[in-house]
Amino acid sequence: IFNFSAGPAIIPESVLEEAKENLLSLGSTGIGIMEHSHRGKAFLAVYEQAVARCRELAGISNDYEVLFLQGGASLQFSMVPMNFLTSGQTADYLITGVWSEKAREEAQRVGSVHEACSSKDKNFTYIPQELKPGSSPVYTHFTSNNTIFGTQFRTEPTPAAGSFLVCDASSDIFSRPIDVSKYGIIYGGAQKNLGPSGVTLVIIRKDLIERGQKELPTMLQYRTHAKNESMYNTPPTFGIFMMNLVFGWIIKQGGLASMAAKNEAKAKVLYDYLDQSRLFKGTAQADSRSLMNVTFVTGNEAIDQQFVSEATKAGFDGLKGHRSVGGMRASIYNAFPHEGVVELVKFMRDFEARQA
Ligand code: PLP
Repeated sequence: IFNFSAGPAIIPESVLEEAKENLLSLGSTGIGIMEHSHRGKAFLAVYEQAVARCRELAGISNDYEVLFLQGGASLQFSMVPMNFLTSGQTADYLITGVWSEKAREEAQRVGSVHEACSSKDKNFTYIPQELKPGSSPVYTHFTSNNTIFGTQFRTEPTPAAGSFLVCDASSDIFSRPIDVSKYGIIYGGAQKNLGPSGVTLVIIRKDLIERGQKELPTMLQYRTHAKNESMYNTPPTFGIFMMNLVFGWIIKQGGLASMAAKNEAKAKVLYDYLDQSRLFKGTAQADSRSLMNVTFVTGNEAIDQQFVSEATKAGFDGLKGHRSVGGMRASIYNAFPHEGVVELVKFMRDFEARQA
């Protein structure tokens, strides 16, 4: 089965094999990975390696903290404004899809939000090129890859002067090189490019941690997690273990630059076919296309449904588009094999020929 799920998504097979070996005994400890105390030496070694590999992969300097939190990217939608925005202050939000709208909604509970751009006028099929920054926003929030609409920022937007950049990178984190020094905070759930759901990677500048609100519940303050090396409460140990293996796998693939080259080549196979197809049509504007989630339609809902149904039977799973867009979506994150895209295009060609 080729699994095109948007998330939780495919995990490299070699990682799953390695995980399997450690379920009953982590290394030679005789105790399974899920059964080790998070305070014990064996798990601490896993945690330290995960942080070190994460730093190595993205070139993260000591000015930043690497945190493994819970609550998904969705809790970050709240934690970011709760820590950094007060009523009377404004944050800029770039509205490029449902996830950025959700992030904005949480910020509005805390302070004011200025919409620095929006692509809602065309059902989020493009990434706006121009920003209209608000006056003195505390931070500028954007979603680097719009999982549902299949669009992606080519480079990071420039935040308004004096504001720091916050990125929800849930669906393209570590799929390409990232200049962390341009960001205040980068966050993402693990379940697309980094491992199983249940753990959220947060990369945050240390000086910001200090600036965060001090009156919040303990678990909602970044400083709590930073001071306690993500172990104020029991961390998602298995998720961190899996993330560590995935980091190791990405390093073996040649790191983020090599990952990006593979992802570009993979997405190109699909987009090249879509561009010449008379049946299928990509929904995202060409300059805004996502390398992670490729969205397309035939323009006829019944044919879309027939395609998804036949594709599923042929072993191409998870191609149904998100309910708010319809059509099809092929999610092709880091671990998705090139061969799967080539096979899908063959199947689409054949389907198209049968429709003629
Ligand atoms: N942000 C983006 C871009 C997403 O794709 C998703 C989930 O698909 C989320 C946020 C929500 O993440 P979580 O389920 O980890 O809260």
